[in-house]
Amino acid sequence: MQLVTVGTVAFDDIETPRGRAERAIGGAATYISRAASFFVQNQGIVSVVGDDFPKDELREMQGLGIDLSGLEIKEGQKSFFWAGKYHENMNQRDTLITDLNVLANFKPVLPELYRTSNYLMLGNLTPEVQMDVLSQMKEKPKLVALDTMNFWMDVAMDALLEVLKRIDVLTINEEEARQLSGEFSLVKAANVIHRMGPRYLIIKKGEHGALLFHEGSVFSFPALPIAEVMDPTGAGDTFAGGFMGYLARTNDHSFENMKRAIVYASVMASFCVEDFSLARLKALTDSEIPLRISEFKNLTLFDVNHW
Ligand code: AMP
Repeated sequence: MQLVTVGTVAFDDIETPRGRAERAIGGAATYISRAASFFVQNQGIVSVVGDDFPKDELREMQGLGIDLSGLEIKEGQKSFFWAGKYHENMNQRDTLITDLNVLANFKPVLPELYRTSNYLMLGNLTPEVQMDVLSQMKEKPKLVALDTMNFWMDVAMDALLEVLKRIDVLTINEEEARQLSGEFSLVKAANVIHRMGPRYLIIKKGEHGALLFHEGSVFSFPALPIAEVMDPTGAGDTFAGGFMGYLARTNDHSFENMKRAIVYASVMASFCVEDFSLARLKALTDSEIPLRISEFKNLTLFDVNHW
């Protein structure tokens, strides 16, 4: 298996200044695996849903090469449900409801063929479950990335700090980096977070792009200015899916290749926000990806002759 992802598979109620969606399909693992499916043919997810989750969505995921033998379906129970409302600037949102439902007692059991995956994405979910999945790997994967959010820092900081000791890449947004480190400056925050474990730190800054920190080096990449962002939900997960999908496909996690992975990650996230929920990722075709890479290139390319 090229890539294994753990994370939520969920229903979302979303309200943005551009509209709303009710009981839309969401969840961290859903966005990550969909984005990664543009890069890898052989990936699996570890998650849990209730029997209320639509079977045709699951079949669609399987059709994209996403193995679901690690997805537990709990009869008579409800899937994870999240409701959020975005502010006018779309960079900030308020969580209105987080109903853990099936996630409350989730004990993941990794199928045998997942346990030797080279790339492991610990998507947003309880830090205890993230640790449990990591512990079930037969040998240490080539690269382990983890995404989390303020919710888990508020309710499970100790468990989060334990799992951070064992991962390579942490992806969080700037607010979360400040909360985790207690530092306002992102450069200082990166130093504090490196000492917690992750050698690589990606700080997502929404419409302002992303920063990759590693051993005193920093790489900065912009976000594409989009005329009308419809719904930022899942952008962070789509970013992570593009990042890990590209690394798993190229099987190279040198710093130089990680920079390219950040480019693909940003490209995938730029599509995600163009429509509600998964709609844009569902409509996306392979041929649109290189076109968007060119748009990003033009955005940052300049020629200057210093006198
Ligand atoms: P993002 O916008 O990338 O942060 O991801 C949004 C997705 O994360 C939504 O589809 C939600 O279902 C899911 N989500 C929201 N809160 C949580 C949480 N506390 N743990 C795991 N997943 C969550």
